[in-house]
Amino acid sequence: MAFKPISTQTLQRMPMYLNYLKDLPVGGAANISATMMADDLRLNDVQVRKDLAMVGQGGRPKIGYVVKDLISDIEHCLGFNNIDSAVLIGVGNLGRTLLEYEGFSECGVDIVVAFDVNQSIVGTTINGKRILPVSKLYSICSRMKIKMGIITVGTGEAQGICDLLVKSGVVAIWNFASVRLNVPSNVFVHNDNMTSSLAVLSNYLVERFSTNK
Ligand code: NAD
Repeated sequence: MAFKPISTQTLQRMPMYLNYLKDLPVGGAANISATMMADDLRLNDVQVRKDLAMVGQGGRPKIGYVVKDLISDIEHCLGFNNIDSAVLIGVGNLGRTLLEYEGFSECGVDIVVAFDVNQSIVGTTINGKRILPVSKLYSICSRMKIKMGIITVGTGEAQGICDLLVKSGVVAIWNFASVRLNVPSNVFVHNDNMTSSLAVLSNYLVERFSTNK
């Protein structure tokens, strides 16, 4: 099935739809309406309809969507059916945690190898993934045709690692360092900044409790 270009906002809502559909009771109704999904997820039903129109054939009047087909369409759209090999660079506190997490394979991403400069961890294995010297990054990524890189080095090292990843053929980067990376236009960077997320939550609490005094 050919998919239309999907906005980042729509794409970011897709895992929520998928989890919702997968959590529906086994043996329950075979079909579901956009209105019901919207009510349960506290979203606007027009939004839900528009989002779902991007991934499949759309719902049918009075029948809605066939749940199992919709799950399959969303998984296909998110690329969950293809295991995407990724590499991780920087096996410190955060990098180690990501390597130990088993859940990424469920969303089609397999971290196949990690790199670091620290000689005391190079040559070791975490959760079955080898830690190699960063000097091997270019040859391994090019040979294995790796397209996804995860950056968990410090802020000062992130751009250099990013440049190396791009040179090695990586076109999708998940960046955890709090720095804006310069990349060519054919490379997509997703920044994940936990500190910003915490700041948003703290700000919510400050605003809520300062007005309720
Ligand atoms: P860390 O210092 O524990 O780990 C960084 C790792 O990168 C180390 O193992 C180091 O040897 C390696 N490294 C340094 N230079 C390298 C290079 N040129 N090539 C390959 N490896 C190199 O740091 P951390 O706490 O894991 O944080 C990593 C990044 O993620 C930082 O940019 C941090 O701001 C960000 N971050 C961390 C957390 C967290 O909870 N730890 C949360 C949010 C964001």
